[in-house]
Amino acid sequence: MKLERMQLLLMSILCILAFSSLWAKYIDNHTHIACFGYKSDCYVSKTMKDSFKFYGYQYIFGLSEKKAQTYGDQILFKILDEQIQDSKWVDQAVLLAMDQVYSEQGKVLKDKTVFYIPNDYISENIKKYNTFLFGASVHPYRKDALKELEKVKANGAVLVKLLPAIQKFDIKNPLTIEYFKKLKKLNLPLLIHVDDESAFSKSHKESTFPYDLEIPLKLGVTVICAHAASAGQTKGKDNFEIFIEFAKKYPNLYADISGLVIKKTRFGHLERVLKHKEIYGQLIYGSDFPLSSQVMSSPFYYRARLGFFNSIGMSFTTNTWDRDVELKKALGVPESIFENSRRLLLQNQKANL
Ligand SMILES: [Zn+2]
Repeated sequence: MKLERMQLLLMSILCILAFSSLWAKYIDNHTHIACFGYKSDCYVSKTMKDSFKFYGYQYIFGLSEKKAQTYGDQILFKILDEQIQDSKWVDQAVLLAMDQVYSEQGKVLKDKTVFYIPNDYISENIKKYNTFLFGASVHPYRKDALKELEKVKANGAVLVKLLPAIQKFDIKNPLTIEYFKKLKKLNLPLLIHVDDESAFSKSHKESTFPYDLEIPLKLGVTVICAHAASAGQTKGKDNFEIFIEFAKKYPNLYADISGLVIKKTRFGHLERVLKHKEIYGQLIYGSDFPLSSQVMSSPFYYRARLGFFNSIGMSFTTNTWDRDVELKKALGVPESIFENSRRLLLQNQKANL
């Protein structure tokens, strides 16, 4: 009898061990980083520095300009690494670079660049951490764009991020064709914003129509629509509705659920996205850190849906990534969507080996 109990206990321990090794944590495909140009080649425009948002961002990033001046911009990698190591749910985050603005002639337009986070800055600094993945940014009008895409791929990029409204380019410009073909060849997914962008001091609406996504989609590029096209309209139709039509037509179109709990700009959008069960396989997890902060995305804003005490309890979760995951789970995001970012990013990595 004693032996049977021992065997049972041993079996239970083995089951727990096997289960915990299977429980992989999530990858956040959409994490921003701040840098000012202290001991780095980063750049922040005067317009951005004069904007009130600049001070708000320093607060939610947990990095003041003064601190960066003292320790160098790189201190933020250490701060974020500690938070991700601490997270119960997330073990890796894709840190996003941000390329400068270029003219069609391939000239850097410094005066039009809101901020600049060089690819080398991210790829070099993340080397000593296991918690980060490299999200590159290469402006399609660069004369060396194709070479730079090869370089970022060689340096471990898992995706390329573009923000047409801020980087001021037109997807329809013929210069993008070879660029998209290169992305396809390198198996690099394109993370792109198609709606207007309000997170910066100024944006440029004209060149961000979701219909234009058919160009990279038809060329076979894996396209990830940031924030599930949750803001704005095109020709009287919600960008989100256009996204849904395209997602049904193109299996290579994905969307991330980053930033969908931000109260001010995207309140209620997560529920709207989750109604479309047919596209769950094309949705991936992202946080949009630091906009996942308590100020912008507190669970308390969802008290009507979650209940007063539940939302308060969740607001006490201090780890930003855990709070974001727990809030999204409570709002109905299924496990599969959290797991999809690892599947998508690793599948694209493997495809190139
Ligand atoms: Zn973002």
